[in-house]
Amino acid sequence: MDKNQIYNLKLATTLANLAEIYKQKSEDTKAAIDLNVAARTVRDYPGNIFDAYNRGFLASLPGIDETVYEIIEEFFETGRIKLYDGIRGQYPDELIKFIRISGLGKKRMFKLYELLDLKSMSDLRQKVHETGIYKLILEQTSFDKEPINEIQIKRLIDSVDYYYCIEGLTPRGFLDFFVESVMNEFGRIKEVKRAVVTGSMRRKKSFVRDIDILLLPEFNIDKYDSKKSELLLKKLCNLSFVNELTAINSKPGNISGRFKTNLGLDMEIIITYAKGWPLDLFYSTGSKEHVKRVEEIAMQRGLFNGISIQLKPEAMAGLEDNSDALIYKMLDLQYIPPELRENNNEIELALNKRLPELIKLEDIKGDLHVHSLWSDGIIDFIEMVTKAKVLGYEYLAISDHSISNLYGKGLNEERIIEKFEYIKYLKAKTKVLKILMGVEVDIKSVGKLDYGEHILEQMDIVLGSMHSNYTNSCEENTARVISAIENSFVSIIAHPTGVVFGARAPYLLDMEKIIEAAAAHGKALEINSYFVRLDLDENYSRKVKESGGKIAINTDSHRLNNLDMIKLGVDVARRAGLEKEDVINTMSLDELMDWKQKTARNKK
Ligand SMILES: [Zn+2]
Ligand SMILES: [Zn+2]
Repeated sequence: MDKNQIYNLKLATTLANLAEIYKQKSEDTKAAIDLNVAARTVRDYPGNIFDAYNRGFLASLPGIDETVYEIIEEFFETGRIKLYDGIRGQYPDELIKFIRISGLGKKRMFKLYELLDLKSMSDLRQKVHETGIYKLILEQTSFDKEPINEIQIKRLIDSVDYYYCIEGLTPRGFLDFFVESVMNEFGRIKEVKRAVVTGSMRRKKSFVRDIDILLLPEFNIDKYDSKKSELLLKKLCNLSFVNELTAINSKPGNISGRFKTNLGLDMEIIITYAKGWPLDLFYSTGSKEHVKRVEEIAMQRGLFNGISIQLKPEAMAGLEDNSDALIYKMLDLQYIPPELRENNNEIELALNKRLPELIKLEDIKGDLHVHSLWSDGIIDFIEMVTKAKVLGYEYLAISDHSISNLYGKGLNEERIIEKFEYIKYLKAKTKVLKILMGVEVDIKSVGKLDYGEHILEQMDIVLGSMHSNYTNSCEENTARVISAIENSFVSIIAHPTGVVFGARAPYLLDMEKIIEAAAAHGKALEINSYFVRLDLDENYSRKVKESGGKIAINTDSHRLNNLDMIKLGVDVARRAGLEKEDVINTMSLDELMDWKQKTARNKK
């Protein structure tokens, strides 16, 4: 079948959609749980899942039982899943995907689709923004047993907008394995002396539209050879990941090509020469707005010719460090890390030498949100601890789901008591790092957590989060989260907005109020590092810092390799301008426990 697919994400989405459909037939929870586990395995697979299938070890991956294996096999062999096609009937894929994003439910979405005579998602977007849509939908009393209400329509509009925003984007965390193999291939081309990833990938955006690469060939060390550069560019069509070269742009000093790749997203490759490297790296890194502001500074210093910044000959002395640092130096600016290049006041800070000292991956001392086999995680405990040690951690909290979280296999009171015993045993046995008993407790409604105080008080760390009934009003959702912030046992709110890339729009929430409340009570909001969440995002994280609040960076791991995703969370924090002091899990365990005690006393 067509190679031009992002297999892991597409297949995982299809499996999760199937699970979603099963969930609505409430008698079939096991099938939904199994499909969700399989979807997660496929989504998290650190390579192309089609390769795993081809090489015969798909069945050995966690959660791929016989039924699921047959579904995946059918998908790879025929490009379809009959069961899925049967359930979804004649509706287009994008509508099925939207069912999950909107949280409106399958029946309502199908009804709406017919009611509004929709042909596509952009059709839906146009229709929901037309005036009178409220009226039109509200009038349809036959729409459901209970007619759709204004809150649901608000959620629908938000969801449509969210869906529109993410079109064409791919989670950067998913591209890691691909970029690694791409760089290896460049490494094997003998003319290529240096290759780096640039563009939004270098700025560490959570979701990217394409991949930009800057290349320096051996023959362009002394001066730019346009003929040889063009030949090399065309030769890149032979690389295993390239489908076709769609555009060439030749300039004095560089040539770039746009390639379609077998992963489904485009790659822009720029071939430069040694002296052009710093400027080409700077310009290709972006962002456009940042570049424009730096050009204005250059103009004030007489170093901009209307097209490009001009490097002074003496500035070129710093050329050997392979970066664009010499541009900032020449302009008397502090070096601005790529993560901050978004025209968010970073130029002013750099002019005054007051840029934040960004948090680093090495600053993280532990992960406070890891699921185990006790709930829906599939991680062997020994492997988990070994991995955490490799990451240099001092502590690790095993924070499983609470009772009502059916799809997350939450622990009932009996099992949580057993788990306390087990963790006690692990604590005694584990010497290389400190194990903490944690919990991700569901915030069921305003003022109501899923466990009573007699359980929560025994926990080393409590994270509160919403997983259900979040289609109710913004006021109610907000009050719900704030009530958890005010609860003295809760230290962290996990994945605060609830957004899951391509699967769920953010909950209806007043995030400003939540950020304020968390800061006032000294509680932390989480940057969830799981690659399709990355929630909070950099904008909210920046607001947390501005309000004097704290952040926890956790992975929400359910698979062993998820623990590595901590770097994605740190990237979000860096893009938000966060420093070590802003993040609670940069503290030692003693400091962290002191912090917990202190914030617990912050009762209203
Ligand atoms: Zn959760
Ligand atoms: Zn979780």
